[in-house]
Amino acid sequence: MTRSEQLFERAKKTIPGGVNSPVRAFGSVGGTPRFIERAEGSAIWDADGKRYIDFIGSWGPAIVGHAHPEVIAAVQQAAVNGLSFGAPTEAEIDIAEEIARLVPSIEQVRLVSSGTEATMSAIRLARGFTGRDKIIKFEGCYHGHSDSLLVKAGSGLLTFGNPSSAGVPADFTRHTLVLEYNNVDELSETFAAMGEQIACVIIEPFAGNMNLIRPSDAFVRTLRELCTAHGAVLIYDEVMTGFRVALGGAQQLHGIRPDLTTLGKIVGGGMPIGAFGGRADIMSCISPLGGVYQAGTLSGNPVAVAAGLTTLRLIQAPGFHDALGRKAASLVEGLVSAARDAGVPFSADSVGGMFGLYFGDKVPTCYAEVTASDRDRFNRFFHLMLDAGVHLAPSAYEAGFVSAAHSEADIAATVDAARKAFAQL
Ligand code: PMP
Repeated sequence: MTRSEQLFERAKKTIPGGVNSPVRAFGSVGGTPRFIERAEGSAIWDADGKRYIDFIGSWGPAIVGHAHPEVIAAVQQAAVNGLSFGAPTEAEIDIAEEIARLVPSIEQVRLVSSGTEATMSAIRLARGFTGRDKIIKFEGCYHGHSDSLLVKAGSGLLTFGNPSSAGVPADFTRHTLVLEYNNVDELSETFAAMGEQIACVIIEPFAGNMNLIRPSDAFVRTLRELCTAHGAVLIYDEVMTGFRVALGGAQQLHGIRPDLTTLGKIVGGGMPIGAFGGRADIMSCISPLGGVYQAGTLSGNPVAVAAGLTTLRLIQAPGFHDALGRKAASLVEGLVSAARDAGVPFSADSVGGMFGLYFGDKVPTCYAEVTASDRDRFNRFFHLMLDAGVHLAPSAYEAGFVSAAHSEADIAATVDAARKAFAQL
């Protein structure tokens, strides 16, 4: 038995499924999750001392590489002054100003402790601001695990969604409409039928929770126009894409100004933070200014803010995102060419420091197309890569991430491992 196997057996006795977040359990790929002991730069080491090139990056936050010395130093310095005060600090103003400067649609911002809290609060705020109940989300997008967002599509156009999790009353999801990503006609018809009832639309502006999916230009433009025309709040959920696909996030690449934006992951530099912000007239509806309640014991935690602020400063180095984008693109090109040489149907895509791998001939544009890709092949590929020392997301439906710490040698080693893996598929 490896030490990870021993730890997994032990963990399962007192932690449900042995993990504190389900995808970590390797449920969809099978096998034993690697228990991690430490990480540095682009590498992580498991409990058996094996080193991996890491393309998960803690599911996004580790954009400057794991355990960046400046981030660690900032955390250490903050920690000696006390871990939490439950009272305002100057550093919270610093990070709010930094966020507002980097993402110009954010005039005011509030910090929370996770992406889930950010999206949950943004939706409550949109409902409070508009006085409307109904919300729209897109199939395959994930926005955290609050009740009204754990919804799968209803059986047809204009039917409201059903809970996708046990424990969520159908009454809680009956105001959530689930539409197809990239489907301009369905979106337009929905607004035509019930636009005046829609409080908000929440979207992953590049979807990263059904692998990586790009929206078409027509889709994002129509979405912005319809929300404006009908007085619905447009929420860009940039928990994953924020500070990753570009310094100003997906909204910078789209040239779209959402009304609200949700952030997480990178904004905390590896510590637990989420944030939501946007138009000042909307944000002023939050307590204590307005009637929409929202709060948190650890919100704006000084240690987390120190990690986030330092990370936000590091990613402003000249050329940071260009280099990140080139790295992800070269990884994707290398993988596509290795698969082609092996005759394996495969495609891949990247946006900034985010990439998607699909065991199918063409890059998908919606959830139905992603789920049509060859999952068994992905699972075998995943394990061959893991054995070869490459840590990919343990699911065919998750995006991958590169960091500034990934070297050309890391990319070359990964492509080399993939070449051998493809040959064995
Ligand atoms: N929104 C998006 C787009 C996400 O990717 C995630 C997490 N992967 C969340 C919200 C929820 O964030 P958290 O896990 O921090 O609650």
